[in-house]
Amino acid sequence: MEQIVIIGGGASGLAAAISAARELKKNLAYAKTDRGFLPITIIEHNDSVGKKIPATGNGRCNLSNVCMLPECFHTKQTSFVETVLSKFSFRETIMFFESMGLLTKSRLEYLYPRSSQASSVREVLEKTCRDLGVRVQTNSHVKSIKKSKTGANSHFVIEISPEKKIESKRVLLANGGKAGPNFGCDGSGYAFAKTFGHIINPTLPALVQVSLLNNPLKQANGIRVDATVSAITGNGIQKNAKDTGELQITDYGISGIPVFQISRHISASLFAAGNPKVQIDFLPDLTREEATNYFMKMIRRQAGNPGFTAFDLMLGLFPKRLILPLLTLSGILIKTPVSDLTGADVEALVGVCKKSLFGVSDTKGFENAQTTLGGVELSQISPKTMESLLEKGLYFSGEIMDVDGKCGGYNLQWAWSTGYLAGKAMALDVLQNTNQA
Ligand SMILES: Cc1cc2nc3c(=O)[nH]c(=O)nc-3n(C[C@H](O)[C@H](O)[C@H](O)COP(=O)(O)OP(=O)(O)OC[C@H]3O[C@@H](n4cnc5c(N)ncnc54)[C@H](O)[C@@H]3O)c2cc1C
Repeated sequence: MEQIVIIGGGASGLAAAISAARELKKNLAYAKTDRGFLPITIIEHNDSVGKKIPATGNGRCNLSNVCMLPECFHTKQTSFVETVLSKFSFRETIMFFESMGLLTKSRLEYLYPRSSQASSVREVLEKTCRDLGVRVQTNSHVKSIKKSKTGANSHFVIEISPEKKIESKRVLLANGGKAGPNFGCDGSGYAFAKTFGHIINPTLPALVQVSLLNNPLKQANGIRVDATVSAITGNGIQKNAKDTGELQITDYGISGIPVFQISRHISASLFAAGNPKVQIDFLPDLTREEATNYFMKMIRRQAGNPGFTAFDLMLGLFPKRLILPLLTLSGILIKTPVSDLTGADVEALVGVCKKSLFGVSDTKGFENAQTTLGGVELSQISPKTMESLLEKGLYFSGEIMDVDGKCGGYNLQWAWSTGYLAGKAMALDVLQNTNQA
């Protein structure tokens, strides 16, 4: 019988295994273990653990952020996030990785491994697990988890196949959400949690690209431009969530960090059968008045020059391929001499540059999302230990819980924090029971 089984060898499962192993090893009973193994097993259905980690942060792994505030996490239970962060925040993350021989560096507020290689994060986590004596079972898909009902000897039965079942006193559901199915995330953990009576709040893609209705910006596919992007949603969902940064225009719609940041609100609105829209300010550094004054000044300056067109007017402000879609949206032909532009034309142009409204057809789904909105309801989990308040011995960590972080290292921080706390709590429970026996 195992003492601790961790379902899912992703970011939070690996952090949990390391923290549990280190805690157990503080106790003499576990300091020297049989054939070097501790009673901790990670079960992972991929052929190796941590497959998603090398893909994070565009291959550089944005593993945390020095601006670590509860507001950086979307949740209905901010106090839960506050408790978790009060115990394990970005400083603890830096120390945790340092303890494994991986140094971090910050770029602006974002934290990365010093090597700038996400794969080094995966490798130190895996090596530390193995060195500590954690058993790692790969190519093993968990099908179901049940609890045998035998009083004090009750334990979990984890089914991998009809012939292969593992028994354990404690189980950690660290098998992620639905984002990134290519990395093994199939949402199977929600069904396991449900078996024990846990509420699963609707799960939707977050930190994801957005498809625009008939994409009016299609001709600017590939262009990157600084912009403020806002989600305009109804149905009681947070209105006007916005973010400024590098907007990427694609053949289907829009991508880039500001789009990721507002995408959860778009997802939620689509789910509620709302009619979300995206508003883009292509001139976030100018007020409406400043933009108007700029256009008027240029028009006056070039009034006597019939060769100076609406296209030329926009050339100093935007990448070339964005000019045509913006002029089209303004109802102005690109070859119109600026001397022919009316006050109404300038108003329309400023309107499009400062406040273009686009219909949304969809998001790019879980296949492209970086995280999951929704999941296991937090009010049924202890914020100190991550243990289920419904089922003794059942624990949760990472993305499976109903918390989604902003883009910027917050989702991995959530995985390290909750994984660490769950691992430690499980080990302390093992030790307490060992002492009592
Ligand atoms: C492309 C991409 C880039 C990202 N970049 C960043 C970033 O730079 N910074 C950041 O903070 N966040 C980033 N994220 C989000 C972050 O990676 C996740 O939020 C985090 O990994 C979640 O950790 P987890 O342990 O909960 O789940 P995961 O890391 O997803 O691990 C879950 C594991 O469980 C396994 N599993 C699932 N079901 C079963 C089963 N039934 N049986 C056995 N094994 C199972 C899966 O194969 C997987 O290995 C990114 C996500 C993606 C997809």
